Amino acid sequence: MNAQKVMQQDEQYVMHTYKRGPLVLESGKGMVATDADGAEYLDFTSGIGVNCLGYCDADWAAAVARQAATLQHTSNLFYTQPCAALAEKLCKAAGFDKVFFGNSGAEANEGAIKAARKYSFDRYGAGRNVVVSLVNSFHGRTMATLTATGQDVFHNYFGPFNEGFVYVPANDENALKAALDAGNVCAVIMEMVQGEGGVMALDKDYVSKAVQLCRSRDVLVIVDEVQTGMGRTGTLFAYQQYDFMPDIVSMAKGLGGGLPIGAVGVSAAVAAGMGPGSHGSTFGGNPVVCAGANVVMDKLLAPGFLQNVNQRAAQLRAGLAALPHVAEVSGLGLMVGIRLEAPLQAADVLAAARQKGLLCLTAKTRLRLLPPLILSEQDVDKALDILGKVLAEMG
Ligand SMILES: *Cc1c(COP(=O)(O)O)cnc(C)c1O
Repeated sequence: MNAQKVMQQDEQYVMHTYKRGPLVLESGKGMVATDADGAEYLDFTSGIGVNCLGYCDADWAAAVARQAATLQHTSNLFYTQPCAALAEKLCKAAGFDKVFFGNSGAEANEGAIKAARKYSFDRYGAGRNVVVSLVNSFHGRTMATLTATGQDVFHNYFGPFNEGFVYVPANDENALKAALDAGNVCAVIMEMVQGEGGVMALDKDYVSKAVQLCRSRDVLVIVDEVQTGMGRTGTLFAYQQYDFMPDIVSMAKGLGGGLPIGAVGVSAAVAAGMGPGSHGSTFGGNPVVCAGANVVMDKLLAPGFLQNVNQRAAQLRAGLAALPHVAEVSGLGLMVGIRLEAPLQAADVLAAARQKGLLCLTAKTRLRLLPPLILSEQDVDKALDILGKVLAEMG
């Protein structure tokens, strides 16, 4: 494969909405991605939190290939076993009563917003439809989820925006109370750790007060677990570390292990409003994608898997905190943000790490690490070694 040709072709024909790194990846196995010239990279991006089992896990690849050769798509007019089995696994492991399957995080959040509005309409009639979201949040790129996203930088040029969204600062209980007291709110949506917002975990005390404020008004709590979910933070979902059960949970990224899938998990009371015809998605619950997701769920829930996530997270966080020019290590579990001392720029560290064979991400001004959840002690040591060298050379 000719890397230059691929990059030129892509530059010419793919719409330039992404700034790509100068790398054509050709194959991957476990923690390692290989480029078109045969160079290997230790991957601490997992395709932005997607490849939770790393590249091309053998069981996952076999299940996907088998299903692709057996029955690849049926539409939602028929039942299929992989879809039903995945729904049961998610409900039993996470405490939902029902799930709806779509194809992406944004689509999952669209479903969450629709389900919340329907719940409110059925009980309180029209007009109680406002969704409160947090400043600095990220909920997707479709019109409604873009509107829900509490960051002005994403809003430029794309108005007019949807009605029925208001924003409050994170970790400010009084601001939330004031928003709820308007009386027209049906739901609050929040990420337990704001990922695109710079890997910022919400305060536990704030979340528990926010949940109480919502419960006392029958306002639904939607937790966007698109990035935090599927074991990323050390529990299957991050809300489990905040000790409450949301009414609605959206998930996507890690769920398919590398294939597109999104899902909304809801309580029985929320599901009751969403009858036939209320919502849909042509590819939702696709059997090939669900076959892969079933393997992801089985591995995530197997003994020792999440223990490894927590042990590696502790090792990685302690190691990072001891590196030069690291001002703060944020986030939860293997969702890691690194605030660097001025004048270091995260983008420069990312580029230098890539040259030494380590792939990283950024989130706002921070360096961000979202490694596959299968990483070993040696993988963490190697990443720390590379980052240590990069940071020492930048000093
Ligand atoms: C990535 C992300 C989304 C959007 O997911 P897509 O699959 O890109 O639509 C929504 N919410 C959060 C918290 C995310 O990290």
